[in-house]
Amino acid sequence: MEGPEAHHLAMVCRVRPGDVVCLFNGDGRQYPAQVVAVARKHVVLDVRGVETPARELGFRLEVAAPLPRGDRAQFLLEKLTELGATAFTPLQTSHSVVRPRDTKLEKLERHVIEASKQCGRNVLLQVRTLLAWSDFLQSDLPPRRLLAHPRTETPWREAVSKEDVVVAVGPEGGFTEDEVAEAHGGGWALVDLGPRILRVETAAIYLTALLAQQQEKD
Ligand code: SAH
Repeated sequence: MEGPEAHHLAMVCRVRPGDVVCLFNGDGRQYPAQVVAVARKHVVLDVRGVETPARELGFRLEVAAPLPRGDRAQFLLEKLTELGATAFTPLQTSHSVVRPRDTKLEKLERHVIEASKQCGRNVLLQVRTLLAWSDFLQSDLPPRRLLAHPRTETPWREAVSKEDVVVAVGPEGGFTEDEVAEAHGGGWALVDLGPRILRVETAAIYLTALLAQQQEKD
């Protein structure tokens, strides 16, 4: 094994021959393995088995939002990974401030991998490329669609269920009335998350948690 994970195992975790580690490659399985040899940049491992622990939600949960600034984007991706979200799409809307470059999206994928290792998730949350709001609305989405919008029609309690779902959150400046109308025409339900205005990442994580906890119910 080579690359950043080998380096991490050798230089950060400081594994030694004979140690047992658990590998994953995002295919939903995990592979217990014994360390055979360690060098600075590569590690030789003997894979001992295949396990398939159930760590995913029983339904697709897609999240879309404009990326918040700096560390708050990392925080968002980390928490969405822990909560079991299936995919994240960064959105470009009229009031978005951050325009992620490709390198930034790669960084977000690194945060997903780190969070997956930490929480034991074996399927990676998929980070999609930046999409303009109208292109996102035209893309292939689950039929159940929730748009978080303050002071709006549907209280969140009426919106959560255990089906495949996509949720969209707006930028700090909010969605424009045109953007909301465009979605409304496409079968999106407008969901209210309570009387306080939440930041982008809080709204996305809160709504994801409300939906994720549905898996605990029969
Ligand atoms: N300035 C905007 C709020 C932006 S908050 C306004 O007053 O309308 C950023 C995004 O988080 C919003 O676009 C919305 O998607 C979500 N959000 C924040 N608080 C919310 C709430 N109480 N209910 C529903 N969505 C909320």
